[in-house]
Amino acid sequence: MSPLAPHPVIGLNKGMNADEKSTLASFLDLSYDALHGGYRGAKREYNFDESPGQDSPAPDSGAAATLAADNGNDSLESIATDINNCTACGLCHTRARAVPGEGAKNPLVMVIGNSPGIEEDACGLPFAGLSGERLEKMLMAIGLSRNGNCFLTGVVKCKAPDKRVPLPEETTSCAAFLHRQILLLSPRIVLCAGLTAAQSLLRTADDMNVLRGKIMKLRIANSVFPVAVTYHPNDLWENEELKRPAWEDLKKLKIWLDANANE
Ligand code: SF4
Repeated sequence: MSPLAPHPVIGLNKGMNADEKSTLASFLDLSYDALHGGYRGAKREYNFDESPGQDSPAPDSGAAATLAADNGNDSLESIATDINNCTACGLCHTRARAVPGEGAKNPLVMVIGNSPGIEEDACGLPFAGLSGERLEKMLMAIGLSRNGNCFLTGVVKCKAPDKRVPLPEETTSCAAFLHRQILLLSPRIVLCAGLTAAQSLLRTADDMNVLRGKIMKLRIANSVFPVAVTYHPNDLWENEELKRPAWEDLKKLKIWLDANANE
């Protein structure tokens, strides 16, 4: 299993009783731990949604569900304060500054990248430097702007060492902050920029070929958010061939936004 796949998501549900679900969850926990070298990970959440099949995974979040209870008192400022004080995973030791995120308070689109890089770590802002310029070009192409109608953040808020991608346990530790932000900001749609962001948020090991080109659904507590996936802006500059499919993703996002303008 890819190290970028922190959580399996279960949509198997037809006709299962509580005991069967519990047995299946235990089996999946054992399998997951075995695939990770026998390491006992944090307890995972499984979505035994009884609703008809959807066009995508719809993971629930136990941590966010708990937090959602007092979401009425939450604010970007309090989330940022909690992030800045957080020592829940080892990345607290490798950050200069945490990067909670920034942008519109009522965003059309919430753009989620992976972890802060060197420039983000230095200034405390998401998508800084070249990565930010590239993202802004992508957003501008479909009438979006990073501070005008988008909110930008990452699946983890602290820089990982040696430019590595965040580990499953790190994205898991940080997920509650991201879920609080999504619940609070309630964007029209979430755009995952890059495979790490998509796999972490959607708790899947699916690759880009599976994840791109459609609108999926993300369940957090009692809310469901549409999610689209495209490449990270840096991917496009490292591989020219990805520019066309990324443009196709953006055009689909624009069509979706236009079609859902009044919701
Ligand atoms: Fe806390 Fe997230 Fe930073 Fe880890 S990455 S220390 S969970 S804020």
